[in-house]
Amino acid sequence: MKIMSINAGSSSLKFSLFDMETETSIASGLFERIGIEKSNYKIKYQGTKIEQEVPLETHADAVDILLKKLVELNIIASLDEIDAIGHRVAHGGDLYKSSVLITEKVVDDLVNLKDFAPLHNPAHVLGIRAFQQALPNVPMTIVPDTAFHQTMDEVTYMYPVPYEWYSEYKVRKYGAHGTSHRYIAETLAEKLGRNDLRIINCHLGNGGSITAIKDGKCVDTSMGFTPLAGIMMGTRSGDIDPSIIPYVMEKEGKNASEIISDLNKKSGFLGLSCYSSDARDILDGVSKGLEKCYLAQEKFVRTVVNYIASYYVLLGGCDILCFTAGIGENSIPFRMKIVEKLACLGIKLDVDRNNTRDLDMFKISSDDSSVDVYVVATNEELLIARDTLELIS
Ligand code: AMP
Repeated sequence: MKIMSINAGSSSLKFSLFDMETETSIASGLFERIGIEKSNYKIKYQGTKIEQEVPLETHADAVDILLKKLVELNIIASLDEIDAIGHRVAHGGDLYKSSVLITEKVVDDLVNLKDFAPLHNPAHVLGIRAFQQALPNVPMTIVPDTAFHQTMDEVTYMYPVPYEWYSEYKVRKYGAHGTSHRYIAETLAEKLGRNDLRIINCHLGNGGSITAIKDGKCVDTSMGFTPLAGIMMGTRSGDIDPSIIPYVMEKEGKNASEIISDLNKKSGFLGLSCYSSDARDILDGVSKGLEKCYLAQEKFVRTVVNYIASYYVLLGGCDILCFTAGIGENSIPFRMKIVEKLACLGIKLDVDRNNTRDLDMFKISSDDSSVDVYVVATNEELLIARDTLELIS
C-alpha cells in the first residue's frame, strides 16, 4: 500500500510517498516557485537527490512532472501503485474536527474558508484539483491543521470581544500545527504505553506553537484566530497589544494589511534582533556579543516559558514536556535555556541527555525531575498518510 502526502502552498508543492507496510518514506520532494521564474524541483529517493530548474506555470505542471518522475526514476512501476493521496490543509474552520475523504462539498468548504487562510486554502484547492485531474480514480483526503484543536472548550476558544464577532464572523481561536501536535501526542502515548498523559508540547520551528494536551486531546493552544498569535516566532510577533496596530498605522502612514504583514514577516527574531529570523544565527549573534540578538533570544525563551507555565496550571500539573520541530528537535542551547527557567516547578534538565542528536525520540530531563522532558521528531506527513489509510480502509 502506497500513500502520498501533499502540502500545496501558493507557489510550492511538497510531497512524501510512503510505503504504509513499513511506514517509511520511499520518496519526497519539493516543487518551488510555481508560476514565477526559476521554478524548480528536488526529489529525494533511495539515498539519491535530483534537482532541476524547469518551467512550472501551474500546480498541474508540477503534478505532471512529479507523476512522470516517480515512474521514470523507478520509484514506482506505474501510477496504479499510488493507492491514495492525503492533502494537508491549513484551515478547516469549525467544520472539520478530523480528516475526511474529499468530495465536491469538501472542496467548496475549503474555498468558503479562504478568509481564514487567504494564502493557503486557495493553494490547497489548486493542489487537489491538479491531482484530481491527473489521477481521477485515486481516493483523496484532507487533513486540516486546525482539526486537532477542535476539542478546545468554549471558554478557551472564545475571545472576550463583542459576541457578534463570533456569531456573525466566526472570530474565535482555531489554532494551527494541529497535525504536528497530534503526531507528538499519539507517539508519546504509544511509546510510553499511556493514554492518560498531560502533555505540554512545544512545536518550535520558524513558526511556533505550544499546545496543552490531556488524554490525547487538545485543551488549549497558543496560536489563535490566525497563526500570528502566541509565542514569538522567526518573523512573527506572537501576542501583542492590538492598540499598537492603529498607532503604528498612523505613525507610518500604512494600512492595516501592511502592518499585519510587518507583524507576520518582519517581527519575531528578525524584528527584535535586526539580524536574522533563524535561531542558529541568533545564537551566533549572541556569541559575537550582539546585544539585540541577546534580547531576541531572551524574549523568545520568555514567551515560551510563559505559555508552558500557564498550561502547567491549566492541566493541573504535567506528565510530559515535549520539544519538537526545527528549534525543538535540534537546538541544544534553546532547550537548555527554556528548561532552566522551569526550575521552580521542579523540572530539571540532564545536560548530557540534552546533548543527544539524531534520534527520533529521547528524554532530556534528569531522573529526579518532576516532569519528564522529551524531544520527539515530528512527522506531519506520516500522520497525513496514516489518516488517509484509515479513511480508505
Ligand atoms: P522548522 O520551521 O521546523 O524547519 O524550523 C526552523 C528553525 O529551526 C530555524 O529557526 C532554525 O534555525 C532552527 N534549527 C534548525 N536546525 C537547527 C539546529 N541544528 N540548531 C539550532 N536551530 C536549528
